[in-house]
This record gives sequence, structure tokens and C-alpha cells, in this order.
Amino acid sequence: MRHLRPLPEWAIDNNLMCQRIWDRIDYKSIPGCHIWTGACAGSSLSNKGKPSISIEGRVYHVSRIVYFWEHKIDPFPYLVLHNCFPNPDNPHCINPAHLRLGDNSDNQLEKYRKGYIHIPSTKKFNDSQIKDIRLAHANGERVCILAQKYGVSPSTISAVIHYYNYKDVD
Ligand SMILES: [Zn+2]
Repeated sequence: MRHLRPLPEWAIDNNLMCQRIWDRIDYKSIPGCHIWTGACAGSSLSNKGKPSISIEGRVYHVSRIVYFWEHKIDPFPYLVLHNCFPNPDNPHCINPAHLRLGDNSDNQLEKYRKGYIHIPSTKKFNDSQIKDIRLAHANGERVCILAQKYGVSPSTISAVIHYYNYKDVD
């Protein structure tokens, strides 16, 4: 299957790749979903294709890279499927909390069976870390740099910045 190949870890696990991806996410138009605004390839789910990025001439689905960052596991050989509950599944969403592993039979079944699988973050921040992260970002620090600094995935940082988590901390 096209795009279903092992990820090139040497290329994706660095700041540059993180920035290429994190600069192309729209957090606002569908609350809860992280909508890819970059290039798409293929036409499996919609005519617009799936979020994709090219690495040395080969195309990779962004959802697979985001999955790797979140879980430190290459999803290969499985598919990365959407679970945007309660939103309708959005093929352009790359919120890792809305992504899960599956296979082809799953993909068929999924149209009929929906369940919310929340992937909890194991990292807990204290209040002063939350404030530091938000302040640093307000002052222009990049999500990917903050993710490295705190040893978490970029989506964990963005959830803090956008008040999806720790809403009660000002
Ligand atoms: Zn989603």
C-alpha cells in the first residue's frame, strides 16, 4: 500500500521536521481537532487526500509521524485511523488523541462502530511549569523547542498553550 512504509526516524525525530509540521496546524476551526493546512496526497478518504509530507522524495502521511512522536512507536505495518469523537472523523485531523492504530478490516468496520479512545498524557505539569510554557510561547518560543525542553510531545505542549488542558491555571 502506498505511504505504508517504515518511517525514516533519522529524518522525523528532529526539530526541523517538528517545525515543518507544527507550523501547519489550525487549532481553531474545529475545536478539539488539529487540522492540517499543508499539502495532501492520495484520495482514499476524500478528494483532497490525506495530510502528507515529502522526505527526500518519498511521501509520508503526517498522521503516522505525529503518532510516532506521541508514542515513540512507528505505526508500521498498521494503519493510523481517525477517532475524532465527538466530532465527525476528519481525514485532515492530526491530533494524536484522535488517532489510533488499526488494520484494513478495522477501517471498514470503523464506519459502523465508534468509540472514543483517549490517549492520556503521562506527563503532569505543575502550575509554575504551565505558566512558564504559556509565557515562553507568548514570547515567541516554538512549540517544538518547548516539547524538547520538557521531554513531551509537541501536542502535549500545544494542549497546554491552547488551554485544552490545565484550563484552571492562569
Ligand atoms: Zn480530530
